[in-house]
Amino acid sequence: MQLKKIIPLGLGIFLKKNYLFIKGMAYRGNQFYCPFCDTGFKDFLDGGTDVPINEKLDVIGAGKRPKTICPACHSNDRERLLHWLFENRFQLSASDKILHIAPEPCLGRYLQAKSPKGYISGVKYYEGFYYPPGVKLMDLLNLPFENNHFDWVICNHVLEHIPDDQAAMKAIFNVLKKGGKAILQVPWSPQLDQTKEDFSIQDPKEREAAFGQFDHLRIYGKDYTTRLKNAGFQINKLEFEDLGILKNDIEKMQLNKKECIFIVTK
Ligand SMILES: [Zn+2]
Repeated sequence: MQLKKIIPLGLGIFLKKNYLFIKGMAYRGNQFYCPFCDTGFKDFLDGGTDVPINEKLDVIGAGKRPKTICPACHSNDRERLLHWLFENRFQLSASDKILHIAPEPCLGRYLQAKSPKGYISGVKYYEGFYYPPGVKLMDLLNLPFENNHFDWVICNHVLEHIPDDQAAMKAIFNVLKKGGKAILQVPWSPQLDQTKEDFSIQDPKEREAAFGQFDHLRIYGKDYTTRLKNAGFQINKLEFEDLGILKNDIEKMQLNKKECIFIVTK
């Protein structure tokens, strides 16, 4: 009797722990490739949600993104792009101090493996979002670190949630070492010269209609780089052709060709 109880329990734990791996096995193939899993797949899952303003303004990094989620680890296209970047353009060392705000799970595990002692992840908790274990509660506008501390700050798709985004950029600037770098991806529209924001819009549904997501306060325009400069950063905006990613890699990893990377330096 005891054994019967133990086996189903053990099996249950195994299935729970390995759910994504088992699910991913069913998708094994050669069409696509996830560098986090180091595995080929016959298909990727759809990501994002369909909100008309994102389509209308061609917002990069937002809206529905078909076939962009790895079926095994659930990495998204942006995480895979940064994986490529750190493997091919910027070498991380074990001594690097890295701050990862609102960490993407797959990228977070990757960065932690690169710098086990120097990696810190933090987030201001929002209900309804999933955060991996080990993430510290942290307010970007009041970071608990001395100035000139980090070699890297990764803070993707956060600034559009913060009313005083200029203060947040300045806070990131302060904790970076001189010569340190940050990656600060945001949803932005190449069709907008000026960032679209209106703080009188408070209702989540109205925010979704205006800015593409219920808790977004703006859609950045081409002036995003001006805001970064105002915080003190030097900016290197890297397009795909600057990066030199092979076409085959772009297709296999289902990277978003419209995405460019904003690497900023103190
Ligand atoms: Zn994967």
